Amino acid sequence: MPSGARPPKEESKRKKNTTKPWDAEGPKKRGGGKQKKAESFLYHCYPDGVGPDTDLISMLEKDVLDKNPQVSFDDIADLDDAKNTLQEAVLLPILMPHYFKGIRRPWRGVLLFGPPGTGKTMLAKAVATQGKTTFFNVSASSLASKWRGESEKLVRILFEMARFYAPSVIFIDEMDSIASKRSSNEHEANRKVKSELLIQMDGANVASSAGGDEKLDESERGKSVLVLAATNRPWDLDEAIRRRLEKRIYIPLPTEEGLRQLFKINLKGIRGGEDISISELLKKCKGFSGADIAILCREAAMMPMRRKLASGKVNFYELAKMEKELDVPIELQDFKEALKNISKSVSKDNLLDYAKWMDEFGCK
Ligand code: ADP
Repeated sequence: MPSGARPPKEESKRKKNTTKPWDAEGPKKRGGGKQKKAESFLYHCYPDGVGPDTDLISMLEKDVLDKNPQVSFDDIADLDDAKNTLQEAVLLPILMPHYFKGIRRPWRGVLLFGPPGTGKTMLAKAVATQGKTTFFNVSASSLASKWRGESEKLVRILFEMARFYAPSVIFIDEMDSIASKRSSNEHEANRKVKSELLIQMDGANVASSAGGDEKLDESERGKSVLVLAATNRPWDLDEAIRRRLEKRIYIPLPTEEGLRQLFKINLKGIRGGEDISISELLKKCKGFSGADIAILCREAAMMPMRRKLASGKVNFYELAKMEKELDVPIELQDFKEALKNISKSVSKDNLLDYAKWMDEFGCK
């Protein structure tokens, strides 16, 4: 609890959130009006709205607390193994806390690692959406830079907030930027953030503390805080942090079937999209990430406009007034043109590095 906040005994008086994860409406804790105010973390800490950490808490509520990630597992192509593992590691412990105790206690942390643009953030959001948990979306690089000096305190408040809104998922993107391996010239502030992170991860999940969970009642067990971290550079991670990210899941480049699904997802609702012969594109898109395919489809969808401009018959102002003329079905040729501008973003060497790390530290 931030200094100056209410003493712990007040916490036990707070009305328990009785919403179950499987309720269709999801948590109702941030409804509106008086209820919204009374159930916000800021109000919980400072009922009159003033306190030493008001600014930090407000910033976290504004920038980091994502009340509505709204991503479904169906929006994500491929990655069936990762989806299954995440459902078991994150969702089931929330749904059936009575089972996930003792040796079966939930994981303390889960790491998603792999090349950039393969769907790690989407997976984290889908987990939070499906589990109807509160989602904290933290970009570690902005934590390290934007909040330098206050980062350590911020980490502590972040976890306190997550416990308040539990069950919660704290998603830390680019984990390597705050939790890299120790080095001799490491900045003192970095070291402090890392140790705070370790302390908080050890205490994050009331339900998973080794051995002690038998004494917890049912409502406490359901109040888990899971740290879900992502990185493109798993080999840079600090060992102690890596150990606490007990489940380490590789999120690879899409398979051929994955590429097909990605085209379908990206071309949904685009005129002519259903008629595109995806098979013809697959060979040219080998090694593309999900993000590369999204960019390719966006480029291709803009080709009719570019053709109009290139014809020299219209200028920008005339183009801006056109609607029907530009609403032409997308064609295979548009993709072939777009492919001249877009190429894959992940190198083969990089893939070898991931495979090696997966062999050494990854979980199937
Ligand atoms: P990462 O976190 O791995 O860097 P993101 O989850 O942020 O990647 O994905 C970036 C974008 O790429 C998404 O917004 C989406 O358009 C696309 N994308 C990547 N992977 C997938 C996937 N498996 N299914 C659907 N879209 C994807």
